[in-house]
Parts: sequence; C-alpha cells; structure tokens
Amino acid sequence: MRPLVASIDLSAIRHNYAVAKRCAPGRQAFAVVKANAYGHGAREVVAALHDEADGFAVASLEEAAEVRALHDEARILLLEGCFAAQEYQVAAQLGLDVVLHSAPQAQQLLAARLGRPLNVWLKLDSGMHRLGFSEAAVREWHARLCGTAQVAELNLLSHFACADERGSEMTEQQLEHFLSLLNLDFAQRSLANSAAILTIPAAHMDWLRPGIMLYGASPFRELSAEVLGLKPVMSLTAELIAIREINVGEAVGYGASWVAARPSRIGTVSCGYADGYPRHAPSGTPLLVRGQRVPLVGRVSMDMLAVDLSDLAEAQVGDAVQVWGAQLPVDEVAQAAGTIGYELLSKVTPRVPRRYFSG
Ligand SMILES: *Cc1c(COP(=O)(O)O)cnc(C)c1O
Repeated sequence: MRPLVASIDLSAIRHNYAVAKRCAPGRQAFAVVKANAYGHGAREVVAALHDEADGFAVASLEEAAEVRALHDEARILLLEGCFAAQEYQVAAQLGLDVVLHSAPQAQQLLAARLGRPLNVWLKLDSGMHRLGFSEAAVREWHARLCGTAQVAELNLLSHFACADERGSEMTEQQLEHFLSLLNLDFAQRSLANSAAILTIPAAHMDWLRPGIMLYGASPFRELSAEVLGLKPVMSLTAELIAIREINVGEAVGYGASWVAARPSRIGTVSCGYADGYPRHAPSGTPLLVRGQRVPLVGRVSMDMLAVDLSDLAEAQVGDAVQVWGAQLPVDEVAQAAGTIGYELLSKVTPRVPRRYFSG
C-alpha cells in the first residue's frame, strides 16, 4: 500500500464541538459538515457527533440526504437553500431547514406543494454581498411568508465577511444590520461562524454555525488553534521513500527550479498534488520528520514531493513524514503555502485513505 494516510481523531472533533458550545452557553449549534466535513468524511463526523450535535449544516440536498440517512432527528440546515424548484419536495421529505436568500427561491417555495412545512431561514445580506436579501426585502418576505402552509418556523440568518479580522469595522456594521431586523418576529436567529463564536459573543444569537473550529484549525491568522483550546483532528502522514545526496549546483524536481547551494541530502516523500498537497507551496514550506521541521524543496509533483534533510542526518528511508497534523499545525503549512487551513483540509483527495480513531 502507498504510504500516505489521513488519521482522523474523532474524539478531538467532539472536544472542539464542546468548545464551541462552551463559548455560548445555552445556545444550539449546527455542526457544519459541508464538503465531506471539510475533507474529514461526513459519515464518520456525523456519527461521531450523533449524540452531541443539535444539528448539522450542509451545502446541498445530496449532502443533506447523506446526513439524514445517519440521523433521523437532527435538524439539518441547507446553507444555500434549494437550487431548483423541485428540490423543495425532497427537502420537505428529508425534514430539512432551508435558507431562502433570493426572491426566486422564496417564490418557488410558495409555489411548492409540500407534504409538511419547512423551517425557513431568511438570509440577510448584511454586507458580504454574496447571498441574501436586503433589509427591506427581508421585511417584505417576512410578511409574505408568515403563516403560509409551506413555512413552519420563520428564522433569520446572516454571514460575516471579516469575522476572522478582530476588531473589524465591517463586522460591527454587519452585526448592527442584523440587530436592526430583530424587531420582526423570528423564531430563531443565527449569525456566528467559528471566528464569531470564538471572539464575538454579541453575535451568538440562538444557533451557532461552527465549521473550521470543529476540525481543529483556526479561522484567525494571528491566533493559533492551540491558543483557542482546539485539538488537531487530521494528521496527514506520508513516508520517506528515497534519499539521495546531491552536489552544489544540482537541481531537484520538475523544472529544476531548486538548486543546491551546499552539498544536500534530499528526501522523496509519498505525497503530491493529486493527494491535495498544494502545488504552489514554495520551497521552505515545512514538513515534519522525526519531530523536526524540514523544508520542502523544488516543485511538488503529482504523487511526490522533496524535502531537504541536510540538517537531519538521522533521517532514513521508511521514516514517517507528517505533512500536517498533531505536531505540525495545518494552519502553519497553509500560511507558508499562501492559503488557509480550510482549503488544505477540504482538498485532501479521495485517494488518500482516512483512518479513524478516538484518542
Ligand atoms: C461554511 C459556513 C459556515 C462555517 O464557517 P467556518 O468559518 O468554517 O466556521 C458558517 N456559515 C455559513 C453560511 C457557511 O457557508
């Protein structure tokens, strides 16, 4: 078997969910499990949170059906609502909570004949300008939807653009926008993603929507997951499959883009961009061998990458290489590669086997 595995600590996910809940006592939380639970495996994550989670949030009907198959009772929120008129029937059969973010969606819902009414979350565009109604449109649709046969609970939801930048003025304005609608009668309100759960108590409302924090990564550049009390969940572990010595002036990898400035010991690692490792990661991006950080050198290949082992004489073929994980935070790798932990985690490809344990 190719030596590359993503080990996933399900007890760490339960711990991180509990951290979210402790931030906002008395509130409920949709565990966000879209995109295959940010790459961790939606089935296993839902099963691990089966007894703890108040609900789950997903990005599509297909993802919702997968969660419903594992959980009869949990509330399941469709974060972008339905994408076509015929989806409302299925959403009702599955007993989902649906977001309504646009007039066409609201009209399709009102035109649908449903077996049972749906819990509806009117989405306010409070400033991100991606999805949602204006404040005036929320008021209008609130009036039109109240008491209709298709609607059970009528709820309010919005999403922050900059909650990961502490003290952001944008966040203040979005919060004020949201608060200005609370003179309408909503059954439930939801505003906070991980960043807001961790640092903006005024945004907690009734339902939290923790995503990245569940997976042990930080939404903040300058605040580590460890400082936030989060436990790492995924450790991506490869192996040194070859080692060679090269001379000054010799190059490594495609394009011969990295050239040895000293006699160097180069290790070849069983992980590449077809596994989800970012191809654009620059030389110097850290990996971990025998507890020590070693730098990536040269271009990342499809199935392999190279590291400079010159300062780690003990390294041998067969040694484990932590690509990221318990000893090398995914956020540190992401920063070195010019991206965020969200992207690295959610892009681990299906060919990487996931191994589950409760640590
Ligand atoms: C993905 C998503 C979340 C979770 O965000 P995190 O930053 O991962 O906590 C919350 N709300 C909405 C609408 C989302 O799309």
